[in-house]
Amino acid sequence: MQQIAVLGATGSIGTSALDVIARHPQAMRASVLAAGRQVDALLALCRQHRPDHAVIADPALYPRLRDGLREAGLPTQAHAGDDALQSLVHGDACQTVVAAIVGAAGLPSTLAAARAGKRLLLANKESLVLAGELLMGTAQAHGARIIPIDSEHNAIFQCLADGNPPARITLTASGGPFRGWTRNALATVTPAQAVAHPKWSMGPKISVDSATLMNKGLEVIEAHHLFSLPASAIRVLVHPQSLVHSLVDFIDGSTLAQLGLPDMRTALAVGLAWPQRIRSGVAALDLLTQGGRLEFEAPDPTAFPCLDLAYAALQAGGTAPAVLNAANEQAVSAFLQGRIGFLDIPDTVAATLDALPVQPADSLDALLAADARARRLADTHITRISGARA
Ligand code: NAD
Ligand code: MG
Repeated sequence: MQQIAVLGATGSIGTSALDVIARHPQAMRASVLAAGRQVDALLALCRQHRPDHAVIADPALYPRLRDGLREAGLPTQAHAGDDALQSLVHGDACQTVVAAIVGAAGLPSTLAAARAGKRLLLANKESLVLAGELLMGTAQAHGARIIPIDSEHNAIFQCLADGNPPARITLTASGGPFRGWTRNALATVTPAQAVAHPKWSMGPKISVDSATLMNKGLEVIEAHHLFSLPASAIRVLVHPQSLVHSLVDFIDGSTLAQLGLPDMRTALAVGLAWPQRIRSGVAALDLLTQGGRLEFEAPDPTAFPCLDLAYAALQAGGTAPAVLNAANEQAVSAFLQGRIGFLDIPDTVAATLDALPVQPADSLDALLAADARARRLADTHITRISGARA
């Protein structure tokens, strides 16, 4: 029986993971469920999946979790805070960790899973952007197997199954809800428009990232770390149907691709059972019912500058990707709160990158310090713009 910790259990990836796990009760079960602040949703998941442990990040919500579990007559133990989460991830409570917390907040628990040599289903791309070398090095040193859950990277992982190195990879991007829009038209888009993704149903942060193309930028950096490829060997193509999840070129002229319906349960099933294949609940792809067309186009760098900002941060190296990620998290959160406009997101990221000199990323402390500095600077920039808007 595979014991699985689902971190970010109440989110989009977390609930998809639990859906796949529940389809295989003889082989696997959710033994640890963790969430940030959605205590009622976490309690509902505990009633459904009966884990051994439930963790809420916000300590103020601990009494509600503990009492709720008791009232439901569940054997689940309640915990709160990051330290409790890290020790559960590290200990005997699980062999597999689904890392699906959103943002840099996911780094400590992801690192704990790597340090403990767990099977690590990595959806939390921000931890790779922030601390890619450290995370990959830790996983390697402790024998943790990382299986990427981002659909593009999961596709590439599947295409690389025979062990031959790729010559180049192509990450596909849906283009988001504003594909084809001009920069001018983007100035006034609302958070509601930005989170209405045409193909994928996802949490609010990654939905905005998809709309700005920062998501693809973060994925370029993610791919660099996962597959040890330079930026020059990672290309991005917009593919509006979102059926080809990525492509890999080999030196002999072959290109392999992985296709499927846009549903994260496929990638999660691959992560949970690899090298076996298990049922995920996702229907088989029928290209004719999907319209029979696969289209590809180049991304528009003028309307969507975030992609080039991410390439530049990857080239600059050191703390630059950590700064990019932190500034983006602050800007997306301000945009979702209606404090800044859509185009202020790339603007804030660019201004923060410009203002902070690149430093060597030689320790976790150096990275976390860069993350904190970038958040402060981005916040100052956001306050200035939102003041001007008011
Ligand atoms: P979401 O917003 O739907 O869920 C986020 C989860 O993280 C929630 O359970 C929330 O409670 C938890 N959380 C937030 N802050 C926390 C904290 N400080 N401590 C503990 N838990 C905390 O997000 P999502 O769309 O499921 O995305 C999760 C991660 O997976 C992100 O890194 C995202 O980039 C990545 N990802 C998502 C998709 C997708 O289809 N949704 C695809 C690829 C990658
Ligand atoms: Mg993706």
